[in-house]
Amino acid sequence: GARALAPRGSWSSESSASSSCWEHRVVLLGDPGVGKTSLANANTEVEAAYERTLLVDGEETTLLVMDTWEPERKGESWRRNQCLQMGNAYVIVYSITDRSSFESASELRIHLRRARQAEDIPIILVGNKSDLVRCREVSIEEGRACAVVFDCKFIETSAALQHNVDELFEGVVRQLRLRREGKEP
Ligand code: GDP
Repeated sequence: GARALAPRGSWSSESSASSSCWEHRVVLLGDPGVGKTSLANANTEVEAAYERTLLVDGEETTLLVMDTWEPERKGESWRRNQCLQMGNAYVIVYSITDRSSFESASELRIHLRRARQAEDIPIILVGNKSDLVRCREVSIEEGRACAVVFDCKFIETSAALQHNVDELFEGVVRQLRLRREGKEP
């Protein structure tokens, strides 16, 4: 975990999302140790946020992937609230080797729904560490079923092997574009 600083002052809570110079802020949520930093890490770091430029369907998009989610600390719930407010898209990560992180993912989904009630924001549920087959505690079917309940997309990844990591962020871009297109007249 790292501090929630505002890179180049562009996404502080005072500046509205639309005036941001970043195209999209993608916030990673999930228990400590599930692999959030590892998933974000293939990118250029800017203060616990990672720029990732992807070419998806012939169009380039830059994501600012934010790895600022931290365990709850007394008197610091504003930090978490800030994370829940600032994202244009969310990636909820659990580890397939840690059932309690899977249970936390459900709680995070509920927090997010509460924080952003009327909004239709893209959410992707990610079961990370898919390379650790022998330590698996959460089946792929359970992950999929959970995503149906969450009304979100689902993918299993391995940050260690970089398996499905590009696919994950491409999926985020597609979800963001679908909503953007839906809003245009
Ligand atoms: P965070 O606390 O959610 O940011 O988790 P980290 O990215 O710091 O990862 C926690 C630990 O899990 C580190 O030791 C990583 O090397 C390891 N890790 C992360 N992703 C994977 C993965 O896909 N496979 C394996 N085998 N280990 C991983």
